[in-house]
Amino acid sequence: MTQRVDAAVRDPLDSGGRWLLRGVRPLGGAAVDMLLDGPVLAEIGPALSAPGANVLDADGLIALPGLVDLHTHLREPGREDAETVASGTRAAALGGFTTVFAMANTEPVADTAGVVEQVWRLGQAAGHCDVRPVGAVTEGLRGARLAELGAMASSAAAVRVFSDDGNCVSDAVLMRRALEYVKAFDGVIAQHAQEPRLTENAQLNEGVVSARLGLPGWPAAAEEAIIARDALLAGHVGSRLHVCHVSTAGSVEILRWAKSKGWRVTAEVTPHHLLLTDDLATSYDPVYKVNPPLRTAADVEALRAGLADGTIDCIATDHAPHAPQDKETEWAAARPGMVGLETALSIAIMVMVEPGLLDWAGLADRMAGAPSRIGGLPHASRDVAAALRPGAAANVVLLDPAARWTVDPHAFASRSRNTPYAGRSLPGRVQATFLRGRPTVLDGKIV
Ligand SMILES: [Zn+2]
Repeated sequence: MTQRVDAAVRDPLDSGGRWLLRGVRPLGGAAVDMLLDGPVLAEIGPALSAPGANVLDADGLIALPGLVDLHTHLREPGREDAETVASGTRAAALGGFTTVFAMANTEPVADTAGVVEQVWRLGQAAGHCDVRPVGAVTEGLRGARLAELGAMASSAAAVRVFSDDGNCVSDAVLMRRALEYVKAFDGVIAQHAQEPRLTENAQLNEGVVSARLGLPGWPAAAEEAIIARDALLAGHVGSRLHVCHVSTAGSVEILRWAKSKGWRVTAEVTPHHLLLTDDLATSYDPVYKVNPPLRTAADVEALRAGLADGTIDCIATDHAPHAPQDKETEWAAARPGMVGLETALSIAIMVMVEPGLLDWAGLADRMAGAPSRIGGLPHASRDVAAALRPGAAANVVLLDPAARWTVDPHAFASRSRNTPYAGRSLPGRVQATFLRGRPTVLDGKIV
């Protein structure tokens, strides 16, 4: 499997350029050629001819629509020591993403039109992938008064997803009002489901491991109670609820029930909750401290099954970069969270594709189609087959399914290193990412 950029490459940053991708396998299917002409996927077929185009020998590489992450912490403004919009979106492009939704818990909080427009503009200036700011639900994430949802929706950033992520909107009346408010413009409230009183000072999953370590636990019921309440509210109001990072088997059951009612409830799961378990906390290594916490093997199994059957709609990274002084400290003082943009696709391949739970088209739906639908991205990107047909936007990721690579945190484009996968060998490698026809990654490197 060779990866070669033709010697005739001119200016790879020229968005008006043409790229002929030779021998790609769209959604893992039969090999074809794909021609990207400017921002549009112009042609697909055998042995295409495109005189003057840049040629990429992509023999055997799988082509998926550009990935979409509904849950990224870019940390700018305020914590540029941990991540910036530029560094985080470089990490995203290397991970195969063409759109990330940037969470609102920045400093200042993204709770006004001014801040979401600032983040949106920083994304445009960096140019590595599209940045869609998430607006806060409540002022300052304090859970007391609704933020300026309408002003953020009608701003240049056109916010459609609102979340107090990091905090739960625990007040039921406020949650109901937020759901009612965003209905007018088909927005969605993305809830960090964590009943605060049940999780005061919690350090890890409540169970056998927390009992053994003598640390205060985080009961599954604290997540499930909020999901059940909010599903009922979303059904009552007729609005869209999205549940961030579900982590328990019980949550999957509640989501299955809510969907069976026809309510507009969607959910995401992180790569780490699909793989890692709470017994890792016995190491007291804070790299495993995350919110929601790592759960049990039975939860992991239920999450994989829920993602496979569509009860959980999508994978979202919850990429949570932290500076060393906030993470490399004792367990109780460490901030929760893990970086994830540069490893998400590989983990997803390992836990979902390799065991046969999802095929490539299914994986593309969970990492591109479904998040596009939930986040309100253009219609053409919401169906992964349509997203790779002529006429679609040329947002494409090429990955080598046979490659294996070893995670080296110091090689990350992210400014932070808090990955639980250091030294681990992972399957699948992103070789190239195209954002509206312009390569952001070639030969596995940022362009
Ligand atoms: Zn969260």
